[in-house]
Amino acid sequence: MAYEIKKYNENTWMIEDWLSEVSLTRFFLLAGKDRALMIDAGMNTKNAKEIGEGILKEAGLYDKLISEEKPMLIAITHGHGDHMGGLGAFSDMYMSLTDYQQFGVENNYPGIAFHPIKEGDKIDLGERVLEVFENPGHSPGSLAFLDIQNRFLVTGDSIQSGHIFMTDDEGMKIFGGSLTHLEEKTAGRFDEILGSHGSTPLPGDYIGKVYQAWEKVMKCRNKESTPEKEGIQVKEEGLNGRKVLDYDCGCCYFYCSAQ
Ligand SMILES: [Zn+2]
Ligand SMILES: [Zn+2]
Repeated sequence: MAYEIKKYNENTWMIEDWLSEVSLTRFFLLAGKDRALMIDAGMNTKNAKEIGEGILKEAGLYDKLISEEKPMLIAITHGHGDHMGGLGAFSDMYMSLTDYQQFGVENNYPGIAFHPIKEGDKIDLGERVLEVFENPGHSPGSLAFLDIQNRFLVTGDSIQSGHIFMTDDEGMKIFGGSLTHLEEKTAGRFDEILGSHGSTPLPGDYIGKVYQAWEKVMKCRNKESTPEKEGIQVKEEGLNGRKVLDYDCGCCYFYCSAQ
């Protein structure tokens, strides 16, 4: 399967796992002064760890950052299969306890040491610190990672330019609160957003755009307004055997259950 490596800055790479000609899932490699960490592991890229190690070798960082005592770490944004394809090769993983339990990660990857992470936790890679934010909605335990020194925010599937899947109504309801919380906590602390699907990077004000889109969709779902009034398009579609509504909000799409 085809994948593509893109350098984001001196010590950050994006790996695009091309699922088809038009669809991709993206994961990241971050090198600190002491440790290297991947965020997510693609879907078809069972060799995600090897890809990461190859990048570090080429950058002349492998010997400094990787050893038996210091294996490459991995942090997972959320428990969906298109983010954990290559997880099996890692020895240590960070993830929310909620998604770890919800998606049966323990049973599927029993040999990996699990380090649960929650809002406010920090992962220190050596002069490079990631701060963890809980961002439930797309999945109950979705996380976002703020790279404090490099001023970018990794948001998984929760904030991106493509389809934002809301697997249940409860997730959709609470998502607005997640967005305002994340916006408040990270205000002025980053310049760009790196999402897992769609185009990247996205501008810093994109959280606000997704929030406005969410608000419009909720008004329609609560029958307080109509798609025409809100300027959004709605289509009914089939997805994995169930009916969903696809709300095209311009900046992003929301997939929600049909009402
Ligand atoms: Zn997902
Ligand atoms: Zn995804």
